[in-house]
Formats: sequence, C-alpha cells, structure tokens
Amino acid sequence: MGNGKRLLIVGGVAGGASCAARARRLSEDAEIIIFDRGSYVSFASCGLPYYVGKVIKREETLLMATPEMFEKRFRIQVRLNTEVTGVDRANSRLEVRNLTTGEVSHEQYDRLLLSPGAYPVRPPVPGVELPGVFTLRTIPDSRSIREWIAQPGVERAVIVGGGFIGLEMAENLVKLGLTVTVVEMQPHVMPLLDPEIAAAIHEELTRHGVTLRLNEALTGFEQDSDGKLAVKLSSGASEAADLAILAVGVRPENRLAKEAGLEIGDFGGIRVDERMQTSDERIWAVGDAVEVRDFVTGRWTLVPLAGPANRQGRVAADVMMGRGSRFRGVQGTAVVKIFNLTVGSTGPSEKTLKRLGLWGDSPGFQKIYLHPEQHSSYYPGAFPITLKLIFSTEDGRIMGVQAVGKDGVDKRIDVIAMAIQKGMTVFDLEEAELCYSPQFGSAKDPVNMAGMIAANQLRGDSRIFHWDEMGEGSGFLVDVRDPSEFKAGHVEGAVNIPLGDLRDRMGDLPGDKEIWTYCFVGQRSYFAVRALVQRGFKARSLSGGYKTLLLGKEVRKERG
Ligand SMILES: Cc1cc2nc3c(=O)[nH]c(=O)nc-3n(C[C@H](O)[C@H](O)[C@H](O)COP(=O)(O)OP(=O)(O)OC[C@H]3O[C@@H](n4cnc5c(N)ncnc54)[C@H](O)[C@@H]3O)c2cc1C
Repeated sequence: MGNGKRLLIVGGVAGGASCAARARRLSEDAEIIIFDRGSYVSFASCGLPYYVGKVIKREETLLMATPEMFEKRFRIQVRLNTEVTGVDRANSRLEVRNLTTGEVSHEQYDRLLLSPGAYPVRPPVPGVELPGVFTLRTIPDSRSIREWIAQPGVERAVIVGGGFIGLEMAENLVKLGLTVTVVEMQPHVMPLLDPEIAAAIHEELTRHGVTLRLNEALTGFEQDSDGKLAVKLSSGASEAADLAILAVGVRPENRLAKEAGLEIGDFGGIRVDERMQTSDERIWAVGDAVEVRDFVTGRWTLVPLAGPANRQGRVAADVMMGRGSRFRGVQGTAVVKIFNLTVGSTGPSEKTLKRLGLWGDSPGFQKIYLHPEQHSSYYPGAFPITLKLIFSTEDGRIMGVQAVGKDGVDKRIDVIAMAIQKGMTVFDLEEAELCYSPQFGSAKDPVNMAGMIAANQLRGDSRIFHWDEMGEGSGFLVDVRDPSEFKAGHVEGAVNIPLGDLRDRMGDLPGDKEIWTYCFVGQRSYFAVRALVQRGFKARSLSGGYKTLLLGKEVRKERG
C-alpha cells in the first residue's frame, strides 16, 4: 500500500490490533483506523477465566492497550462502541454505526482488514436467555459473571461444554468455592484430544470435586420462583444450578463478509489464501473469523486461537505494505492448565486423522505412548508426562503429539510443534539436542525418548501393540514386572515372568505363539522383546504399558 492510503480495520483485539501496529511500523504515511463495537481495544480474552476466578484481581490488567496509547504511540485511531454494519465493495466503503449516538456514517478504504473474531454458540434450547445463563467472550461478560457470583446464595455452577474455556472456568469456579458440574456431550472432555489422553484429565477434575456428566447434551433451562436454575439434560436428568456457563464452542463472525459476497468456507469461516487475502484483493481477513489450511493435513480448518490470530494480523499487514510474507497454516498448538495438570497438543489427534479418513493402512500412521518424568527422577518433584506421538510409517514424519503432566508439558509440545512445522521426522527427535540439568529435563529428554521409541518401530528393532488391540486374538501375554506389581493389578490371563528371570525361563513360553509383553510404562517390556526376538521368538510390547492400559480402561468405562 502506498503512502497516504487508508487502512480500515474491523475488530481491535488479537488479529486487528496486531495488524494495525505492524502496518504502522511499515508505513508512517498510511491512515489507520480500528473500529470495534465493544468498549475495549486489545484486551486479553485469554485471561478472562482468571479474572472471573480473581486470580487476576483488577480489570485494568486485562487491557493490553488503550485508544489513547494507540493514538499517541502509533497515530492509529481507535473508534470504540462503533459497529461496522456493512461493506460496500463496489464503492470501497464501510457503513459504520456509532452505538452510543446511533449515528450512521460511511468510511472510505483503500485496504480493509476483517478481524471480527467469533461468537460463542448459544444452543437454541428453551431457557437459554434466562438470567444466570452466561457465555464468556468479553470483559463485560466476565464482569457480569463476577457480579452474579457475588450475590448471596450462589453456590452451584453448571458448565456446559468441557473444552478449554469450560475447564478453565471449572477450575476458577471451584477455587471461588462453588460446587461445579461439567456437562459434555462427547464421551470425554477436551474433545479435540484422543480419549485415553483425556481420561487423565477426568481423574484430575474428579479429584478436585468437579462432577462430570459425560455423554449428556443440554436440552434446556428452567428457573423457579427463587431464581434457581434447573439445567435439563438429554438423559432426562436435571442439574440444579445458581449459575450456568455455556462453553460449547465458537463460530466465525462471518456476517459482514457473507453479506459483502466474500467467499465463505465449508466451516463458515471467511476463506483466505496464504497472504490472508479474501476473495476480494483489497480485503484481508484474520483470526477466529477465517478458515485456513491445516499445515499437517492440508485440509481447510478453523483454529480459534490467539497465536494464529496475531501472526495472521502481522502477515496481512506485511502483504498490504508490499512484503512477500506468507502464513504457513495452522496446526492447532494449544496448552491449558487444569488444576495441577498441564495438557497440551499440536497437530491432529488419532481421532481427527480417522475422521478425515487419513488413518489408512498405506502409507499409514503409527502411535506410541510413553510416560517419562519431566526431569531427572532423582531430583525432587519428578512427575510423569503422559505423551502420545503420532507419525507416518512411510518416512517417520511427525504428525501430532498430545501430552498431560504437571510440569514440562508446554516445553515438549513446543519443541515438537517446531519439528512439525519444519517437516521433521521421529529420527530428528532422536537426535534433538535439548538443554538439560536435573531440575529441567533428563540427559535423554522425553522428546528424545519419544523419537527413539518411534524410530525403533520404523527400524524394526521393536514391535508394539496397543491398549485398544487387547482381547480376542491377543498374543501370549507376559507381564514382565516384579511379582509385587503383578499382584497389585494385572491383565487377566497374563503370566508373570519378571524381566530379570526371563532369560532363564524362555523355555516356559510357547514357541508357536507371538509373545505380547507388558510392564508398567513400556520400557522393561521393550527390553524383554529385544531379548526374545534375539532368541527366535516373535514378540511385541504394549506401548505405554499397563499405565496406558488403565487410561484405556477408563475410556471403555466411559463409553459404557
Ligand atoms: C475466555 C477465553 C479464553 C481464551 N483462552 C485462550 C488461550 O488460552 N489461548 C489461546 O490461544 N486462545 C485463547 N482464546 C482465544 C483467543 O482469545 C482468540 O483466538 C483471539 O482473541 C481471536 O482474535 P480475533 O482478532 O480473531 O478476534 P477477537 O479477539 O474476538 O476480536 C474481535 C473483535 O471484533 C469486534 N467486532 C466484531 N464484529 C464487529 C463489527 N461488525 N464492527 C466492529 N467490531 C466488531 C469484536 O467486538 C471483538 O472485540 C480464548 C478466548 C476466550 C473467549
């Protein structure tokens, strides 16, 4: 965009504000105006659950910038409480309504950025508009929830939806002393994760007193004369509540784009190319409102997260100012804290790959599980991270990873996220040189371990089976743990031959059957497989061991 041109921006939070600031850094001459129908610019939506929970004490802390700051520091005008109501592409102008005065005006643009975000879904069920039923998207939403909770007698909350926002709210409301129930339509919370990984979260929620109602859909709300809510569920059950939070997902805010005739994708997001340009070459769109390519699967997708919104805003500004920047696509790298757990993932889950029909036999994918500690086990505070890595069996390319633990989850997810972005393989993870001292990692970091276990599969050094393959058709099951561990719980029908005795007792094993070994996390059973195959047996070990099997058992229980 040449000097003196007018850049108008719809939406002044993550995507819009970063585009505006970047545009100014690239052009001192452009006139830049941000319109936002809300009362704030550039606020921290991600902090809202913690403001409700009083972890963040003051509302001002959520404001990353003010209109005055934009004006003074960047000469960017911010018009708040101002809704853009129409885009007239033929005449390159916006229809704008001042929500305070009702006045309608028109604004000419040379370049337009749409960053209108997404809106929280309110299921069309009876009673959804009753007082006490909230969604959380804006500062006023969080203020209303805080004020509601401050009333006397507000003790029970029902959260509908067990995704990121629902679970962050669950934790914060529990910490405020409320009794919390989470209702989730799927068999597990965090529906983007695989069920056996989510199973670890169920335990943590339950341990902190959260009641989980899985496989239950919301059917409506009723309110009695005292203002108490009854949250109606698909099973016919009803949950009493003084407060309900709807956290069932968001939809792209696409109205302006749709009415302006811009191309909209199958998921309702504004279609953009890698320059963040819409089907109109003078209009860009970024953030929760857009549909972009998944970097790993190559499919169109919606990833409503702050990181992509910010980066896309920057790319859009670059392109508007004549630079050749491109957005690489999204891979859904995310992390969330749930009480004492950190849960993170990047790239598609097994469930997603199967849903997309990509988990075929050829070239195909493999998964491995491991439970290494986040740092040296001898250093106080060591705690396992449950990690699931998915990779291509063709060339070892890493597809995705999911992890749950106390500490150190974010670091492993981020390292593997970068590896995915650079198209790396499990062989690269084996070789990755990562920082280490006892407080932070191990000489063989969990990332290295994941690479080694996966690479062992591809090299044929070890074969594995999985928790969901147990049952009919299993091999001859050998539990290679110590007798005390075996006694504390084992797979029905398994024979206990501790690893230390295995070499002397190979004669006890059937020569005509494949031997399936397992231990607690998969390491001793791998050693057993190596010993067995070198003595002519066909053998595999249970990936992630008995610990993963227990998570799988939870999945089976939840599925009924
Ligand atoms: C409670 C909560 C917690 C979150 N936590 C995380 C997290 O931990 N990590 C993470 O990565 N992401 C998180 N997110 C998601 C993240 O906040 C969004 O992905 C990000 O804000 C999207 O940026 P955006 O610019 O697309 O939209 P938004 O930030 O939603 O901004 C859109 C703005 O556009 C304005 N607008 C819309 N239409 C118009 C119009 N017609 N005229 C004028 N103004 C308009 C809206 O008022 C809004 O202010 C969270 C979101 C919420 C709600």
